[in-house]
This record gives sequence, C-alpha cells and structure tokens, in this order.
Amino acid sequence: MTANACPSRAPSLLSPWRRRCQWITTLLLLLMPWFKIGGNSLLRIDIPTLTIYVFGQTLRIQELYLVLIFCLVLTLGFLLVTMVLGRVWCGWFCPQTTLTDLAEWFSTRLKLQTEKKPAPGVVRKLALQLFYLTLSCLVATNLLWYFIEPLDFFQQLFSGEIHYAAWTTLILIALVVYLDLALVQRLMCSDFCPYGRFQTVLADQATLTLNLPPAELKRCIECNSCVRVCPMGIDIRQGYQVECINCGRCLDACRRIMAKRNEQGLISYTFGTEGKGARALVNPRTILLSFVTLVLFITLGFAVWQRPAASLKIAVSHTAASRTLKDGSRATFFNAWVNNRSDRNAAYNVRAINTASGEPLVLKGRSGSIEVAAGGNLRIDFVLVTPPTDDEVDVNFLLLDQSGQELATVEAQIR
Ligand code: SF4
Ligand code: SF4
Repeated sequence: MTANACPSRAPSLLSPWRRRCQWITTLLLLLMPWFKIGGNSLLRIDIPTLTIYVFGQTLRIQELYLVLIFCLVLTLGFLLVTMVLGRVWCGWFCPQTTLTDLAEWFSTRLKLQTEKKPAPGVVRKLALQLFYLTLSCLVATNLLWYFIEPLDFFQQLFSGEIHYAAWTTLILIALVVYLDLALVQRLMCSDFCPYGRFQTVLADQATLTLNLPPAELKRCIECNSCVRVCPMGIDIRQGYQVECINCGRCLDACRRIMAKRNEQGLISYTFGTEGKGARALVNPRTILLSFVTLVLFITLGFAVWQRPAASLKIAVSHTAASRTLKDGSRATFFNAWVNNRSDRNAAYNVRAINTASGEPLVLKGRSGSIEVAAGGNLRIDFVLVTPPTDDEVDVNFLLLDQSGQELATVEAQIR
C-alpha cells in the first residue's frame, strides 16, 4: 500500500479509518457475549461446566484436543498477522491503544494537556479520574461477561448473589486498568507489552511498515509535524523503530502539511523497505506459516464437524464391588458419564452387547431415557449382568439416541 495523496485536493487521511476499526473492535468485544447462537453466547467460557462456547460450537474441557487445536490456530493466525502487518494490531485494534486514545481525548477536552496557566482546577482533575474509573469498571465488567452470561451477571449483581471470586476478579481487573490509565498509558506499548518485542523477531523484509524512503528526505521541510503527532515520541525520519505501533498518524500529518504545498506526503505504508510492494509477501516464511495455519484451521473444522453429538465414558465403580449372583452370573457395577455436545436437550439409551456373540446383555439401573441438557454432562450408575463363565467377557457399551442411532461405543472387559 502506498500513500500518494493527490496534491490538488484535500489529502486522503487514514485516521478516520483507524477510528472506525477501533470502534468496530470495541463494539465487537463489548457485544460478543450478548450475541447468541443456539441459545449460547457467541464466545464464552463457562467455568462451572468447563465448557467453551465458540461461534455455535460447544467444546467441553474433555475435548482437550479440540481446545488445543483451537488455541494453536489462534496463536499461529496471530503470528501470521504480525508477520505480514507488523504492529497494525497495536495501532488500529488493540484495546490498550483505544483506551489510551480515549483517555488522551478526554484529557484534551478538559484542557488538561494543553493549558499550563492557570493550573487545571481540582474539579477537572477529578473528572478525569472519574472517567478513568468508569472505563476501568466497564472493561472489568466486559471481561467477566466472557465467563458469566451477561444477563446472569446483572441478575446476580442486583440480587447480591454474585460469587466472591467474581467480585474479586472484577475489582482486581478494574484496579489494574485504572492504574494503567492513570500511570502507564503509552508506556505499556513501548516498555511493558511483550507483543512489541516479540514483533521484532517476526518482522522480516516483507512486513508492513511506515517508511520514509531516503530519496524523499530531500523534500522534507523539517516542520516536525510527524514527530509532534506521534504518540510514541518517534521521529520516523530516522528509520524504523521497534516502538512504532503503525498507527499512521505521522503519515496523515505529513500529508496535511505537504498538501498545503501541493505536494505528496513523504511517508507511506510499504511491505518491506525494498519497494517490492505486495510481491514481498511471496517469501518462504510467510508461505510456510500461512500453509501450516490453513492446514490446522481445516483440521479443526473437520474435527468439529466430524465429532458425534454425544459421548459416553464408562468406569468400573470403585465403591461397589462386583459380585457373583445365585445363578452364577456376574454383577459388575459401573459409573458412566453421558455428555450431550449438541445445543438441544436430548435423551439417550445405553445398551451392552457381548462382543463375541453379539447377544445383548442385561443392564440394571439407569440405562434408558437418560435426559441430558444441551451441553450437559450427566453421571449415571448401572449394573451389568454377564452370564456364568470362567472366561473374560468382552463387552461393547453403546450410546444410542431416541431413534436408535448409535452415537458412541466403549469397549470393556469383565473378568
Ligand atoms: S512513527 Fe508514525 S506510525 Fe509509528 S507510532 Fe509514531 S505516528 Fe504512529
Ligand atoms: S511531517 Fe513530513 S515534512 Fe514535516 S518533518 Fe515530518 S517528514 Fe518532514
């Protein structure tokens, strides 16, 4: 992407686009827990049931392999975006930058940053702290909505039933965000956030960056506008610096100044600094990372699509010993867990079959019409009765839905 402004018209600026991106990201983060698919939040981690709701899919912690692939896809996708777009995330989407921009905007409105004399009054200083506090509480509340359904959260809050762990988390997050706004702000991006340092490892000859080509420097009128607007205090004329968050403010400032002289701005976004344009993206590192991310993404999609709507886990009971009945048959006590992975309540039956003969075996206890809520996990106990024999008996436990369709099979050996 190059940044050639048409000299005869008002310069085309990036700041309106950056603000739109910040608004969209903020609204998405605020509203995502409120949107529902199949009765569940678009994205939420339900701690009591150890379940992740993600875009209509219900992933239970037992399906750890899916959760791991999901995390891997997210991580690799983020690395890929960083490798290609540099710190565009920092300047255009990161909530930390948005919060700091908001704090600076409010401070400017209160004339706290510009007015030196007379010194700002206590009321305006207090108003700024109140603004920080409001933002902090909003961020902390928003974060909790990713763990407690928003409506439940407000219900618990107003009825005073909110768990102390949720209260503690809420207060701690609000405190951290408040201190961040009051004391840290941009220092987070330049000194503390590991992502910025991490980016230096990922950046290569194709990474999108702000660039002032040496050949253009001779047109520079030394107005210093690009330096004055930079939130990170960078002089882009001295070349790429790791603190740069790719926000594009310097580019806009230069375009404005040079437009008054009917000239194009000096600063541009480029993939790498060799002037190859988007062709620079065709390199082994980017291709390899894109390929691995795509393969993992397809694997995840396939694994989610292929998984059965319910699962069955069986274990011999540790509390009830198996015994031989009067007729010589053997009674073995089992604990079982039926997990309904669908987004609807459902009823199931468990059947046991002698693997060798294919004959059904007797199950006593709760093995039929087992109703499990959507996304729920229910424990049931039953007794398996196997005919008299000196040999081990191989058994297949089947989980069937109400129409008799087999959803899961578990093998067991009765001694
Ligand atoms: S150098 Fe330009 S793009 Fe980088 S942080 Fe400063 S203003 Fe933003
Ligand atoms: S805004 Fe443009 S012209 Fe002014 S100092 Fe920066 S690079 Fe030079």
